[in-house]
Amino acid sequence: MELMLLGTGCPRVDYKRFGPANLISSKKTKILVDCGSGVTQRLDQAKISSAKIDALFLTHLHSDHVVDLYQLIISSWHSYRTTPWKIYGPKGTKKFVTKIMEAWRDERKQRIIYEARSSTQAFNIKVKEFASVGNFQIKDIKVKYFEVDHKPVKYAYGFNFFHNSKKLTVSGDTRPCENIMKYALFSDVLLHEVFIDGEIKKINKMRTLKTLHNVRDYHTPSNIVGKIAKLSRCKKLVLTHLVPTQFNEKKLKLIVKKDFGKEPIIGKDLLKIKI
Ligand SMILES: [Zn+2]
Ligand SMILES: [Zn+2]
Repeated sequence: MELMLLGTGCPRVDYKRFGPANLISSKKTKILVDCGSGVTQRLDQAKISSAKIDALFLTHLHSDHVVDLYQLIISSWHSYRTTPWKIYGPKGTKKFVTKIMEAWRDERKQRIIYEARSSTQAFNIKVKEFASVGNFQIKDIKVKYFEVDHKPVKYAYGFNFFHNSKKLTVSGDTRPCENIMKYALFSDVLLHEVFIDGEIKKINKMRTLKTLHNVRDYHTPSNIVGKIAKLSRCKKLVLTHLVPTQFNEKKLKLIVKKDFGKEPIIGKDLLKIKI
């Protein structure tokens, strides 16, 4: 199995760190997790056609994780996708997809008639919504989803990917919670989000202490993420969804290593990790 980080950023724009997205693949299977800003450009850079993606899994419906959904779908049509899209996501995903498709309905209709491409299967979208915990088999990769704590977001999920007795865990957006420690146990790779302490300063009236507190509060701070990795006994820890996107890398590595016992990998867009 291989993990490729397509976007390691957060809502704030940064041309070096695109919006959240990851590709999990085997020889037979390609699974995309989230479709943040710039996902299709990164896929193109990695020479992966959106026509060939078997399934899209969404961690939650925060805009930074789903903002390029329509772009992904239209780009797969331009790439001559011949199979329907399978989208797996939290409660609300069906409504979200329907609304996005509705917003572009007239434009799409005109385009389909005028451009007369061979298939419209890219616009045939099958959505499955998650319960609290469950499994899906996508060809030779088994995916387990589990709830994480990103409140006030009501439905947020992390994932396990199993292939050839290897285990990858993706935290999604979460504050420290029991489920992440439970489901990340003995992962070969734990891909975890992080809020980096001391790197965001308050700006009078625009970014208040309350803003900073609230953002930190529903993410996992840098002085905790290493402890979670340690408790989960994962072999490798990869950090992504870096808030903020620019920070002192050396300092972050040191803080996390102190808790984890091993140096974490600081995620970068297009970084590939064999599992
Ligand atoms: Zn996010
Ligand atoms: Zn979020």
